[in-house]
Amino acid sequence: MFHFDENGMPTALIGGRCTVCGQVSFPARKACGSCGPEAPIETHLLSAEGRVYAATRVHVPSALGHKPPYAYGYVDLPADKTRIFAPLVGEDDTGWEPGQAVELVFCEIPAEKMQGVLGYAFTQAPRGDDV
Ligand SMILES: [Zn+2]
Repeated sequence: MFHFDENGMPTALIGGRCTVCGQVSFPARKACGSCGPEAPIETHLLSAEGRVYAATRVHVPSALGHKPPYAYGYVDLPADKTRIFAPLVGEDDTGWEPGQAVELVFCEIPAEKMQGVLGYAFTQAPRGDDV
């Protein structure tokens, strides 16, 4: 699921890309949803830059022990023309408006039963254009 550099640091999420129509999936599907099982799926590294499509904040602990409140949602990756499900983390945990720019981060999954397990999330992208 993760692509690592030579130092063992995660650098990208690994998805799948249909070699016929180019549709990207994450996690990688075994078969393209449009072309069917005959179309070969190749490994595809996902873009780290996204936009929030929809998000929700959760106010009860998860079965895995996420401490509330925490947020997750769907993030559009324009470069990959796909939408993936992801946790949303950040210092300002109140926002997560549709259209908000976010970027990929790797971190330990913040849940009691997942200690030490590498996970991924999206966080607020630096707002370089209005500084
Ligand atoms: Zn396809």
